[in-house]
Amino acid sequence: MLHLALHFLVPALLVGVLFRNQQLGDKVLGDKVLGDKVLGDKVLSHKVLSHKVLGARWQVAYLILIATMVVDIDHLLANPIYDPNRCSIGFHPLHQPGFIGLYLLLCFIPKTRLIGLGLTIHMLLDSIDCQVTNGIWIN
Ligand SMILES: [Zn+2]
Repeated sequence: MLHLALHFLVPALLVGVLFRNQQLGDKVLGDKVLGDKVLGDKVLSHKVLSHKVLGARWQVAYLILIATMVVDIDHLLANPIYDPNRCSIGFHPLHQPGFIGLYLLLCFIPKTRLIGLGLTIHMLLDSIDCQVTNGIWIN
């Protein structure tokens, strides 16, 4: 239960830290994700539009981070679908080391940075859960 809560809390913490300075948050994440172009201090107008449509930018960033939890869809292939004593990392198809490398890579591409961060945080939390419940980092 704590593990599930962490999947919501850690992204919230990250967004809190990044957007404590709104401009920093925008530069590091927001602009890239929504495809806005920053020209000096001028931001193209669709940023203002997305602001109105999608709400505050930190909320958008948080939603994208939370949305990466769909990676757990691979649990549907396992039987049972959920087993609190099973280590996800190295067991489920999207929790394999190869994919985790890909998630890390996404962190370095501006347009996919938030998705990469969300997935990497997810894998870290899952791995910590493995360590706490099974004493291993990976299956
Ligand atoms: Zn997972």
